[in-house]
Amino acid sequence: MATCETCGNDYDKAFQVTMNGKAHTFDSFECAVRAFAPTCDHCGTRIIGHGLEKAGIFFCCDNCAEGEGLKGLRDRM
Ligand SMILES: [Zn+2]
Ligand SMILES: [Zn+2]
Repeated sequence: MATCETCGNDYDKAFQVTMNGKAHTFDSFECAVRAFAPTCDHCGTRIIGHGLEKAGIFFCCDNCAEGEGLKGLRDRM
């Protein structure tokens, strides 16, 4: 049995995600997303797919980046 780091659930099918060389244990992708996915700086949406990043600030889409006055960002995640 392994315990989910996000919700504390003991689950026999828990899985591990390695981030920066450190393993983290989760019982569901939802919990892993909650722990790792950045949020859009403009609308607050969790970025689960490809997002946009500028100097450590994340956006879910080009429209949100432009809403914060940033132009010309390209997908880089
Ligand atoms: Zn969990
Ligand atoms: Zn957004």
